[in-house]
Amino acid sequence: MTNPILPGATLGMLGSGQLGRMFTIAARRLGYRVHVLSPDTETPTGQVADVEVRCDYQDLDRVAEFARGVSVVSFEFENVPSETTEVCRKYCPVRPDGSVLHTSQNRYREKSALKEAGLPVTPFTLVRSLEELEAAAKQQGLPGVFKTADWGYDGKGQVVVRSEDELPAAWAKLNAPQAILEKFIDFEGELSVVAARGLDGQFVSYGPIGNVHSNHILDISVCPLLVPGSVAADAIEITRAVLDRLNVVGVMCVEFFLTKNQQLLINETAPRPHNSGHLTIDAHVTCQFEQQVRAICGLPLGSGELRSPSAMANLLGDVWDSGEPNWTAALRHPNLKLHLYGKQDPRPGRKMGHLTVLAPTVHEAEQTAKQARAALKFR
Ligand code: AMP
Repeated sequence: MTNPILPGATLGMLGSGQLGRMFTIAARRLGYRVHVLSPDTETPTGQVADVEVRCDYQDLDRVAEFARGVSVVSFEFENVPSETTEVCRKYCPVRPDGSVLHTSQNRYREKSALKEAGLPVTPFTLVRSLEELEAAAKQQGLPGVFKTADWGYDGKGQVVVRSEDELPAAWAKLNAPQAILEKFIDFEGELSVVAARGLDGQFVSYGPIGNVHSNHILDISVCPLLVPGSVAADAIEITRAVLDRLNVVGVMCVEFFLTKNQQLLINETAPRPHNSGHLTIDAHVTCQFEQQVRAICGLPLGSGELRSPSAMANLLGDVWDSGEPNWTAALRHPNLKLHLYGKQDPRPGRKMGHLTVLAPTVHEAEQTAKQARAALKFR
């Protein structure tokens, strides 16, 4: 049995956005030191980490030096090049393993691996040319969602196609060597299960969490999601199967569509804490970031028990449209928790922070979160 990495040790984080920041806050609370590496400056994680290394992920000499100075490496986004994690693992464990990243980095590989494991995924076909796109549309039927295989997130690199005459324009727009055509799902709702898996296979999950997107970006999450018990249990069992199958050590989010006939279909997975799990910081006994620390350090996982119904509202750069938001108005709600990521430039669509509300019911939590967010714009 591998010895656990105990408080006082130094943890390495690849990527320096808000997920790295919240990981670092959880790690420091537990008494760890955190070093972060990314090509950026003035970063959300760098502001709270012990050491910030600024270099390109492909600068493998500096990556090696970074890995020599830490006890374990994790990452906060899935597009870290595989050479980078390969170099790191010569010096310390990388958790989750680089093979999990490799699978999640490409929608086709990810969906194929899940399908082969007998797990329910949105129907999809591999597309590498306009001819293949036309054939896939015929065979699968339209409407469909045409998505790049690599580098897709928050709806980037995807286009909805409704009829055959839209196919050439969709192919030209995506301009990607490899893509998938997915069946368009007229879903009843979207939900996610965030879960952690330890070095010994221990599994703890949160959710299902109900998610509403706006312009393909997560807007609101609620927990608990009010769905029949069998749907909730199935979502958790599918998530457990995904983490076991991919041998994840760390945190992973599985996002689902719930169809109108109550069928669950996996849309995508993310091998790291997820935006829909941010409400766990305030609403659960152990949050997703502490769970990531515990899992990658080989420690027992904490309880994922929900302490209160809750809702999370994302704060995008748009909230700053007409100047500094009215923080006082939002903070008048005593059961509201404000989280800001320390980003300087509030561009439209950029995730700047979130707020979480705890209330006796999810409905009340959601209403208050929406009202408080709207109040930020009133002065
Ligand atoms: P993704 O980047 O694949 O997670 O997509 C972002 C959002 O686009 C999803 O959360 C859905 O709201 C929507 N979407 C993606 N794929 C589909 C699909 N096959 N059918 C319907 N909506 C989709």
